[in-house]
Amino acid sequence: MNSRRDFLRQMGGSALAAPLLSQLPTSAHTPADRQLRVALVGLGSYAARVARAMKDCKLAKLVGGVTGTPEKVEKWMAEHGLEKANFYNYQNYDDLKNNPNIDAVYVCLPNAMHHEFVIRAAKAGKHVICEKPMSVTVKEAEEMIAACKKANVKLYLGYRLHFEPHTRELIRLRQSGELGKIMHVNTYDGFRIGDPTQWRLRKNLAGGGALMDVGVYCINGARYATGEEPVWITAQESKTDPVKFKEVDETITFQMGFPSGAIASCATTYNFNNFERLYVIGEKGFVDMSPAFGYGPIKGRTRNGDMNLDTSKMHQTWQMDGLADCILNGTPDPNMTGEEGLKDMKVIEAIYKSIAAGGKKVLI
Ligand code: NAD
Repeated sequence: MNSRRDFLRQMGGSALAAPLLSQLPTSAHTPADRQLRVALVGLGSYAARVARAMKDCKLAKLVGGVTGTPEKVEKWMAEHGLEKANFYNYQNYDDLKNNPNIDAVYVCLPNAMHHEFVIRAAKAGKHVICEKPMSVTVKEAEEMIAACKKANVKLYLGYRLHFEPHTRELIRLRQSGELGKIMHVNTYDGFRIGDPTQWRLRKNLAGGGALMDVGVYCINGARYATGEEPVWITAQESKTDPVKFKEVDETITFQMGFPSGAIASCATTYNFNNFERLYVIGEKGFVDMSPAFGYGPIKGRTRNGDMNLDTSKMHQTWQMDGLADCILNGTPDPNMTGEEGLKDMKVIEAIYKSIAAGGKKVLI
């Protein structure tokens, strides 16, 4: 079996090792024979990506799934060597509480289903990783956090970039003071969405459009680039296709003001491709990452030139091993807890509020 020590040793040559090793205390116990046994909830396209990435994990192991499509069970069992006893459907999901062979679930369902399936997992006594956006309202996010606290289980968001080397380096450069006082941040994320019948365009399943789906990276990115929480928001919406985007937002631009005086200027869209950047300007330096939020390879440069960091693994491999280390060994949370998801949900609600008020400044 692989241990946390092996995991860290394996990353020894990578740029990820330094920040991780400096941040993670040596655990009182290193359960060398333990891996975090995970079941994926909702076996769609993202779950399939996570499953592929987990094949290279040392500390996390895929052991089961939850699906409403019975035909998927045999397929996933064969593809990933899983046991039938670790499969559930959306009705008998609560029976997870009787399964000692699953430690955690990873909710990869449409956004509006996160609330229900996180709370039911907590009640079944399982740790939970929940995809972004955390929920479709602030109230739901608060209820999810409360349910996990009550059940004494961990709740993390699928903010995979917090284990990605360029993102970690950006955070380190800001924290070490090498960038100086952060003055301005630009974040963009978007893509041209296809199939007009998909759940991402239905308000009852998605909660919102581009903002909920990928704009959340712009919000989270501006927060980790500044290390601050925004105190005001202004936002504007535009639509080129009111039929396709009848229920959800297509393009939103927004601005965030931070207590230090730093401003973030951000935009998100479902209308065009090649729109992905995180540009942080400090008094002493800058980090310009593009692509910055997708599956990568992430690229970035600073005033010293190209960042050239490790891009050898899928983000989800780093993420799942990192989160397994947090859950199994109690290592510090990498800013992807439920509380972090809630902070982003508060910004999302403030953005929609500003748009509804004709772009007026909304205080958070
Ligand atoms: P998907 O459509 O490929 O998969 C959704 C899954 O949910 C499918 O298996 C589907 O059968 C199931 N489902 C159950 N009830 C459903 C219903 N009523 N309507 C539609 N599907 C239903 O979607 P996806 O791209 O896998 O996204 C799932 C979640 O993962 C979303 O919250 C999304 O934001 C998130 N996601 C995160 C990333 C990331 O990089 N972190 C990337 C993609 C998606």
